[in-house]
Amino acid sequence: MFVERAAGHVNAPEPASPFSVLSPMAFRSADACIQSSFVEPRFFCDAMLGGLARWLRAAGYDAAFEQGIDDAVLVARAGETGRILLSSDGGIFERTPVREGHVRSLFVPRALGLSGELRFVLGAFSLPLLPPRCMTCGGALLELTKDEARAEAPPKTLDRIETFYRCEGCGKLLWRGSHWERIARVLAEAEAAARRR
Ligand SMILES: [Zn+2]
Repeated sequence: MFVERAAGHVNAPEPASPFSVLSPMAFRSADACIQSSFVEPRFFCDAMLGGLARWLRAAGYDAAFEQGIDDAVLVARAGETGRILLSSDGGIFERTPVREGHVRSLFVPRALGLSGELRFVLGAFSLPLLPPRCMTCGGALLELTKDEARAEAPPKTLDRIETFYRCEGCGKLLWRGSHWERIARVLAEAEAAARRR
């Protein structure tokens, strides 16, 4: 069971993030077409949910996380930035801004495991998979040509990969190798399971 508190208390919808990469991504399942009216929620994960933040980013969502952040600061930041607070700490939900619905929030049950947490959040908000963000920092990924990546990519990778991506946030170079494909499979399974909930 989950509790989504005060879903209607966000004053103004957040604008959709300006994705620069929309079409060629394997992460996006065929039936996960994004409705034009869909507004992506943005999240702030509590100090225990850093793994979930990384996977939400891989699923294409803006998910903030700060190691060791104080609960009061976390609640304040979520409120100031219009993010939905995700937490497994019951005490956070007793804080006034959360209890009174000024900060949207979702209690993520403990002991779900990482894939269970991801499924839970995708299911709670009926979220489709979006073009992935950088799992490290949450930045949007810009597509690069092979030539643009040539100076940095390992030679063996250049031999077999055609498309590369640059994180707008941290500058990291990424490509769709076996690690990427494994992540995409986990995401697709999580999305499918969330739909069956
Ligand atoms: Zn990054």
